[in-house]
Amino acid sequence: MKRICIFAGSNVGTRQEYQEAAVQLSKELVEYEMDVVFGGSSIGLMGVMANTILDNGGKVVGVIPKNLFRGEMVHTQLTQLFQVKTMHERKAKMGELSDAFIALPGGFGTLEEIFEVVSWGQLGIHQKPIGLYNVAGYYDPLLQLVERGIEDEFIPEEHRDLLICESDPARLIEKIKSSQPPGETDKWKEIPSS
Ligand code: AMP
Repeated sequence: MKRICIFAGSNVGTRQEYQEAAVQLSKELVEYEMDVVFGGSSIGLMGVMANTILDNGGKVVGVIPKNLFRGEMVHTQLTQLFQVKTMHERKAKMGELSDAFIALPGGFGTLEEIFEVVSWGQLGIHQKPIGLYNVAGYYDPLLQLVERGIEDEFIPEEHRDLLICESDPARLIEKIKSSQPPGETDKWKEIPSS
């Protein structure tokens, strides 16, 4: 596993723990000699993560849509920067360049990125592991919603493991490295299994 795609807030959030966690995860990724692909911004947790990796000798590749974000938000010191036309192109490129995904705390942009890779994972479009870095219990409500979805049979139980959730960065990376994609599942209850 060589490249990890990181989704993270374009704000730093209110708790100091969020930035500390972004620094810790970034240092672990450098230790594991994993390059990072991300949204190319210099601000928020994205910026904290990119700067920490670069400062520690790691490689960071950014993928950013042209003219969508103000110029000063684009990180200009990255190892490589891809400029794409649309947000859809950006997500496709980020996925194509990466072997796995990790989400730090973030807002709608981060949530949307997580749910796209999870829903595409359950359809078998990709088989790349997806990690949730659960800093300060930020993702607990999301995990509760997943449990409700399983209980009410909107989400197959086997797909719970599509989200690898950890609050310790080294354990998260280890779990991602050793994870196996879920086998065939009857996603649709109304269609008899073949
Ligand atoms: P959010 O969680 O709403 O702050 O959005 C963060 C996610 O959306 C990141 O993973 C990026 O891919 C994308 N994004 C949002 N704002 C920016 C920005 N200013 N520069 C680059 N990407 C951004």
